[in-house]
Amino acid sequence: MPNSVKRPLPGQMMHQPLLISNLLVHADRHYGDTEIVSRRVEGDIHRYTYRDCHRRARTLANALAALGAGQGDRIATLAWNGYRHLELYYAVSGSGAVLHTVNPRLFAEQVAYIVNHAEDLLLFFDLSFLPLVEAIAPQCPTVKAFIALCGREHFPAETTIANLLCYEELLAAHSDAFAWPQFDENTASGLCYTSGTTGNPKGALYSHRSTVLHAYASTMPDALGLSSRDVILPVVPMFHVNAWGLPYSAPLTGAKLVFPGPATDGKSLHELFESERVTLSAGVPTVWLGLLGYLQQNAKKLATLNRAVIGGSACPPAMMETFRKQHAVEVVHAWGMTELSPLGTACRLQAKHLDLAPDEQAAILEKQGHALSGVDIRIVDDEGQEVAWDGKTPGNLMARGPWVISGYYKGEGGDALQDGWFPTGDVATIDSDGYLQITDRSKDVIKSGGEWIGSIDLENIAMQHPDVEQAACIGVHHPKWDERPLLVVVKKPDAAATREDLLAFYDGKIAKWWRPDDVVFVDALPIGATGKVMKNVLRTQFRDYSLQAA
Ligand code: ADP
Repeated sequence: MPNSVKRPLPGQMMHQPLLISNLLVHADRHYGDTEIVSRRVEGDIHRYTYRDCHRRARTLANALAALGAGQGDRIATLAWNGYRHLELYYAVSGSGAVLHTVNPRLFAEQVAYIVNHAEDLLLFFDLSFLPLVEAIAPQCPTVKAFIALCGREHFPAETTIANLLCYEELLAAHSDAFAWPQFDENTASGLCYTSGTTGNPKGALYSHRSTVLHAYASTMPDALGLSSRDVILPVVPMFHVNAWGLPYSAPLTGAKLVFPGPATDGKSLHELFESERVTLSAGVPTVWLGLLGYLQQNAKKLATLNRAVIGGSACPPAMMETFRKQHAVEVVHAWGMTELSPLGTACRLQAKHLDLAPDEQAAILEKQGHALSGVDIRIVDDEGQEVAWDGKTPGNLMARGPWVISGYYKGEGGDALQDGWFPTGDVATIDSDGYLQITDRSKDVIKSGGEWIGSIDLENIAMQHPDVEQAACIGVHHPKWDERPLLVVVKKPDAAATREDLLAFYDGKIAKWWRPDDVVFVDALPIGATGKVMKNVLRTQFRDYSLQAA
């Protein structure tokens, strides 16, 4: 045998870049008549099809080019979930520009900071956000035009914004003849800032490749399990981590899309679930609290919904049980973060679990589940050594994969990786079957006498109490133990539970030393821009709280 240097043999398959525009082209060609239904800011219901959406996205692409937006330009949106926002998702990224979805629930100064940091060229906004846009416009010199997502009939008669355009007029002035450009799949497609609870917000810059791969992986049966028979209503906003990728994965599968616009209260959601025959919805636990409360108070049922994807913060087992037992809805518990596009794990049973008793199955489904195929996870101790997958030992959760960030936009915050892994800031266990369970965010862990107490477990137990509407657990200073858990509770209307009742409720459910030292009742918990309880605000509020002697 002659000595030869081994070389890779190139495969002989077409090189077709993974581009976001292809998702909508596919939906148009194969599911062209499938509907996209939106509750509009104007209050009415709008309906059209994937074919219409594609036509208007092409028209918008021509309009963007006429406004001078080209490859790499950042185009901002401040908008609810709706068809015009979807058109922007495709027209902006499909043209090679970068869709920068901005969270309108942030303070005006934060919005201005983010728009300036991204150096956005254009800003499209729903009319609900006119006052916010008026407030920030003078501070955002890079934005050449602001575009109100409406027709002339709703266009503001008076405004302080100098360069304000009307979306529908813009579209009317252009043709739908547009061929989506082909370019490298590693081109940036979208930009999303973390909510910056600690320090300034940092940008995650997604690529076409990462977005399309995330869409494929998230539709798989053991992830969200989407198909063209689904009717999907994303409650999770398109301004926060791309509504968990549903605006991409729905067209990929040909599922019907239903957008709730600004109306995410229980009554409005229920109306849409029923009238549009929604089968799958997705949102953070606080949204579901509103819906479940409405259903209970009004003796309403969910006729067609069969899956609720819940993530963003831990889904309390009590909520899963209500969905399962009262509404025959399967909860898919998912974990993710902005830096992961966002889906990292989803919880589904395996064949070997199918014969287990319902309670045993429920115990598995409470976890955050398996890594999506393509994502790799591991847990490490403070020295960076991997800890066992025994379902008991907590470690710092690390992730890597093609839709995990490699660094923040403009290098903000320095090196984002450790040994090639992204440190998530979450603390988790992983069991021998590979099921991940988040015990806490590392900054929320309660450190008592050198040991860690996970606040999520304590909250989940409190939420099982029939009188508890919402619960959050924080560490407060303790002279001997450093920190001890304080349970902050919002009671259900007219509920009578006392501090002693709630403390006794922990007996037998958890190690004694984990039990909260005290309970305080409040009218409401502070909820942040992404619909989650703001533990940092609670910690400040109860900084000087003096625990009753135990
Ligand atoms: P931010 O809230 O900072 O904007 P993200 O929305 O990206 O950031 O939130 C990511 C964080 O949310 C995760 O790091 C984790 O702490 C929390 N999280 C997401 N899903 C879950 C879940 N199913 N259970 C517990 N925590 C979750």
